[in-house]
Amino acid sequence: MKNKKFYITTTIPYANAPPHIGFALEIVQADVLARWHSLLGEDVFFLTGTDEHGVKNYKMAKEVGLTPQQFVDKNSDYFRELTKVLNISNNYFIRTTDKKAHWPGVINLWKILAKKRDIYKKKYKGNYCYGCERFVIEKDLIDGKCPNHPNLTPELIEEENYFFKLSKYSDKIINLIKKDKLKITPEKWKNDFLSLIKDGLTDVSFSRDKKHLPWGIPVPGDENQVLYVWPDALTNYITGIGYPDKKYKKYWPADVHVVGKDMLRFHTGIWPGMLLSAGIKLPKEVIVHGFLTVNGQKMSKSLGNVVNPIELRKKYDADSIRYILMRTIPFGDDGDFSEKALVERNNSELADKLGNLVSRVSALAEKYGLVKTENKLVKKLKVKEISSLIENYELDKALNLIFEFVDSCNLYVQENELWKSGDKKKLYELADSIKALAILLWAFIPETCEKISKVFNFKIDFKELKKPLKIGKIRKAEILFRKIEVDEKQEEKVNKAEKIEKIEGIATMSEIVQYGDWEKLDLRVGKIIKVEDIENADKLYKLTIDIGKEKRVVCAGLKKFYSKDELKNKKCILFVNLASRMMRGIESRGMILAAVNEDESKVRLIQPDSEIELGARVR
Ligand SMILES: [Zn+2]
Repeated sequence: MKNKKFYITTTIPYANAPPHIGFALEIVQADVLARWHSLLGEDVFFLTGTDEHGVKNYKMAKEVGLTPQQFVDKNSDYFRELTKVLNISNNYFIRTTDKKAHWPGVINLWKILAKKRDIYKKKYKGNYCYGCERFVIEKDLIDGKCPNHPNLTPELIEEENYFFKLSKYSDKIINLIKKDKLKITPEKWKNDFLSLIKDGLTDVSFSRDKKHLPWGIPVPGDENQVLYVWPDALTNYITGIGYPDKKYKKYWPADVHVVGKDMLRFHTGIWPGMLLSAGIKLPKEVIVHGFLTVNGQKMSKSLGNVVNPIELRKKYDADSIRYILMRTIPFGDDGDFSEKALVERNNSELADKLGNLVSRVSALAEKYGLVKTENKLVKKLKVKEISSLIENYELDKALNLIFEFVDSCNLYVQENELWKSGDKKKLYELADSIKALAILLWAFIPETCEKISKVFNFKIDFKELKKPLKIGKIRKAEILFRKIEVDEKQEEKVNKAEKIEKIEGIATMSEIVQYGDWEKLDLRVGKIIKVEDIENADKLYKLTIDIGKEKRVVCAGLKKFYSKDELKNKKCILFVNLASRMMRGIESRGMILAAVNEDESKVRLIQPDSEIELGARVR
């Protein structure tokens, strides 16, 4: 009999920057599910990759002096690196700039949709947000601004584009979702989406004028138009498994698309519409995860608190990172990430509980040996419940139950004083229980569990759970998890910096961390005497600031918030004893302090409230 197949995907993140911890959450979640199903003996295919076209990449590449392809190659490599360092078991990595693997499928699907007369050309006038790289619907605008980019004014663009008749499939899609034929999990996100589309789905723009979107796949038969993100990026889920070649049917339909809550509507609106039009089966289920805050704060570049998981990996083991992400974030909800929590869980749960258990039992087994017996202890392990929690994506709860059993095992060693008695039968029960633990935990912390399997000589396979452990030669295990020392000083500095950060606005945290405390900050009253544009920079001004004894050149990201005239002759507070920094070939010496509101839509310079000489110190 052929093995049941299981096809799972992540979204493909936009390759304009290195990954952040939020995507690590998504890809680890998908990896745990992929590994779980392969543990069950299923034929698993796990796809991830990068979305690489679009105006933003085109412009950013230009700004840094690279070709768009060089620029996305570099960023895509970071995501590939992430899969390596987090021990992700993806079978393939799809890139939308791949002309062999991706383009033919996209063009083929477009042609089918066109043949169905579901693609038509019309003049379109809409608000285009360059932050989102998409048209924002009138009713979604807040005070005329995109809800995701409150500091960018959308541009009113009129052009002739190709449209996809999504409205034609609206009723059908709503019905399928209601009946769970296209399942959205958790349920609250299903309800959320259904209420969002209660007035029906509307047609969507599927192309853009080449003048505005020069970096993408050309529309078949129309050289002046380029495919917009949806027909390009969403199609990765079938090109990544071979479409248009029939071999894609081996894994299609997808069993699970894992998406962030901001991506849900595209995967349960536009994507099923395209598939219905083309007569291709729909994915079975879309599961939704929330967003991560860091230390209780929203991640943002200006706060300087964006966590790069590749950097994080340089400090911690893959399994410690995977564990904290799966252990603390409830499925479907937002959660918080902090290194403090990572260190605490690593030390108290992975090192003290699991690591200690394996090390004690292996040492005692080496010393006393084992004698086979019925394992009564393992009956406390709720295998069925744990399996069903994992299959319902409640990974944090599954880990909870697994670690309850780790506690039971440690208690068993304790209560029976096995280091004194050396009871070979009880030691066998423990070794056999550790085998069960390692099999259940493998999807979460694979490297550790593979080490355990070598110590106790068993195979990691769900079928092995029920089979009694064969007694082989056991040697004391090497230490599985090192306790991580908490760097108190570093933590103190960060806390201080966070406090300062809140008051000062624009200076980034890492820059203030160098100083650590108020006394060391040299802040002076200055006056902006010259404001200049910087070539190709749409955020930065080059400012010349008079601080009494000297004049300083500073680059500041104020362009979106002030015109040149508004800034000229304005007083400001300059952070002067900061290491100078090269920005766009200009040596920037210092930083201007400003107040920034929560969503970063407003930035206002801080000034003395009345006359005082330039160069006066702020205390
Ligand atoms: Zn936007």
